[in-house]
Amino acid sequence: MCGVIGYYSDERDGFADIVNGLFQMQHRGQDACGVAVSDGRRLRLHKGIGYVREVFGHRPSDDFAGRLGCGHVRYPTQGGNRPENTQPHMVTTLDGGILALCSNGDIVNYWGIREWLEARGVDFEGSNDGEVLAKYIAWLHVSEGMPLVRAIRRLQDDIRGAYSAVLVTRERLFAFRDPYGVRPLSFGTDGKDWIIASETPALDIARMDFVDEVGPGEIITWDEEGMHRLPHPDIIAARRGRVDTAHCIFEHIYFSRPDSKAFGHLAYDVRKRIGAWLAETDDVEADVVVPVPDSSNAVALGYAQASGLPFEIGLIRNHYVGRTFISPEQSRRDEGVRLKFNPVREVFEGKRVVLVDDSIVRGTTSRKLARMVRGAGASEIHMRVGSPITAHSCFYGIDTPSRQELIGSRMTLDEIREHITADTLRYTTVEGLKSCVDRPEGFCFACFDGKYPIAVAEEKRMELVEAGT
Ligand code: 5GP
Ligand code: MG
Repeated sequence: MCGVIGYYSDERDGFADIVNGLFQMQHRGQDACGVAVSDGRRLRLHKGIGYVREVFGHRPSDDFAGRLGCGHVRYPTQGGNRPENTQPHMVTTLDGGILALCSNGDIVNYWGIREWLEARGVDFEGSNDGEVLAKYIAWLHVSEGMPLVRAIRRLQDDIRGAYSAVLVTRERLFAFRDPYGVRPLSFGTDGKDWIIASETPALDIARMDFVDEVGPGEIITWDEEGMHRLPHPDIIAARRGRVDTAHCIFEHIYFSRPDSKAFGHLAYDVRKRIGAWLAETDDVEADVVVPVPDSSNAVALGYAQASGLPFEIGLIRNHYVGRTFISPEQSRRDEGVRLKFNPVREVFEGKRVVLVDDSIVRGTTSRKLARMVRGAGASEIHMRVGSPITAHSCFYGIDTPSRQELIGSRMTLDEIREHITADTLRYTTVEGLKSCVDRPEGFCFACFDGKYPIAVAEEKRMELVEAGT
């Protein structure tokens, strides 16, 4: 998963807005970040491994400024955490940078496109899908002389998977999304300047008003003549059969900030509705509802409000620990849970606890927390999960592990309950989850129901298995 941002102004430097926006989206990627800016004449790039504050604590140089640009925070799904895989990817010719692109998502026919480009003499530095997007567009534009909008349309036709992307040239800014609109991408304005971002808090921080989401398959351009929206043409829809959307439901469950609006919903509302659904379908007797902060706070609140049980903050989170899920080895993940949470004994002592988390992936967090909560005096633990059983890998940008590592694909419900040592365990059902969004048929639930809306090539599945990710 990653976060992208774009900025366009006729005159004002956008470096600070880009960096502040990336900072608001730091949760979408903590490994690396980068910014490309153009002053109208020169397109320049600065990127590095580390948090936004580390890489962009200072302007890279006094003249690193521009009235248009794009930026990225990275959480690797394709390609390791190496400098050559960081984004934006800039394509340069003899007279300097011609375009820079950054993308959020994951494409499923990466190798097919890469080999096609390699056969035409294009070199690759890393193994990140953003590089394929950038170089595919650049090749069509430079070698075939295709205008950029046409090159992007071609890409939307040929490259399958999830991409919410921002592209900047010396004078124009482009935002576009795959025809299924898997990943979010919104844009806003203060009446003069524009920001495009994966999550709306990046607009809020710049005091930009939300205008709309970039439509699935849409291309939007900004240049001296203003903004132009180019919706997805029917022709592609016809060729593909019914192009419906496949918005990632996991954005609302876990990934997005609660104050983000995506796919027509505020994530906070969806989470509260999930909590309410869990409570309304529950008959457990308990004394207190406690979230596993921060990702399940709103789910637990929704549960508490619907059940009438008191909501207590019984687990205190240390905010200086990165997301535990990110640590690659199991031993570090285990330690991470203890470093991250400390129980408030006074909340748990003698209580029957409804412990709410947004998801169970490998089962590490729930098992450790159950032990911790019991150690803090809880008499019963009723684990409630704000999503269905995670039983399938994601090929569209969420870094879910391979199926073997997903506890939900290896164990029955009761085995999971036993493994995490809860007294009872309930998940949200897929149908229950669907009732928490409008137009559920427009969402992708593949990590829960295994129904992949975009065909995943066998090579891609194998790659995931081999990488053991
Ligand atoms: P588990 O410990 O079961 O492997 O993971 C469950 C925990 O990881 C939950 O607390 C959930 O909030 C968090 N989580 C779920 N999905 C993701 C993800 O894609 N990335 C990260 N960093 N954490 C996740
Ligand atoms: Mg969590």
